[in-house]
Amino acid sequence: MHPCLTCGACCAHYRVSLHWSEADPALGGRTPVALTEPCGPHQLAMRGTWQARPHCIALTGVVGEQVGCSIYPDRPAPCRDLQAAWEHGQPSSQCDRARQAYGLEPLTPASWS
Ligand code: SF4
Ligand code: SF4
Repeated sequence: MHPCLTCGACCAHYRVSLHWSEADPALGGRTPVALTEPCGPHQLAMRGTWQARPHCIALTGVVGEQVGCSIYPDRPAPCRDLQAAWEHGQPSSQCDRARQAYGLEPLTPASWS
């Protein structure tokens, strides 16, 4: 199984901010605006991620057990850009830090074999 499907830590650890145009269908945006909140003059944040204990509203399931993203095909750029450690042969400190916050071991190259 893809390691992210039993993790979800990054969706419940970081503020996920996006340019407002990503949630404007008139400009080709696909992220549902109702799942966002204003976050600065030109930015939105995924609702739930701009708080002391972030947890994206689109995250389903239980972090560290089984999770999903309810808007996966329409998730914003920061979500698509965050690389899971070693998925493509590179480390990822963002992935490692989020997992550590939930007591999960960092991924290794063997996680993908
Ligand atoms: S923290 Fe890493 S392993 Fe966990 S969901 Fe995010 S990218 Fe995937
Ligand atoms: S939109 Fe999906 S991928 Fe992005 S933080 Fe929320 S649950 Fe995670």
